[in-house]
Amino acid sequence: MTMPSSYLPPGLPIPVPEPDGVSAPYWNGLREGVLRVQRCAHCQAWQFGPEWICHACLQFDPAW
Ligand SMILES: [Zn+2]
Repeated sequence: MTMPSSYLPPGLPIPVPEPDGVSAPYWNGLREGVLRVQRCAHCQAWQFGPEWICHACLQFDPAW
């Protein structure tokens, strides 16, 4: 059995850091061997991918 060259379906772009830095903690975590996702300090909702606001309660700057 051969391993696929990518886990992404054909045609999807390779994920890269966004230029605005919203996902920097995620990418820095991967370099350290840690998977980081956001969790809102206000409503405790988890979310991924990284965003500037919580999609559950609309508070700004969810924690990592
Ligand atoms: Zn929230």
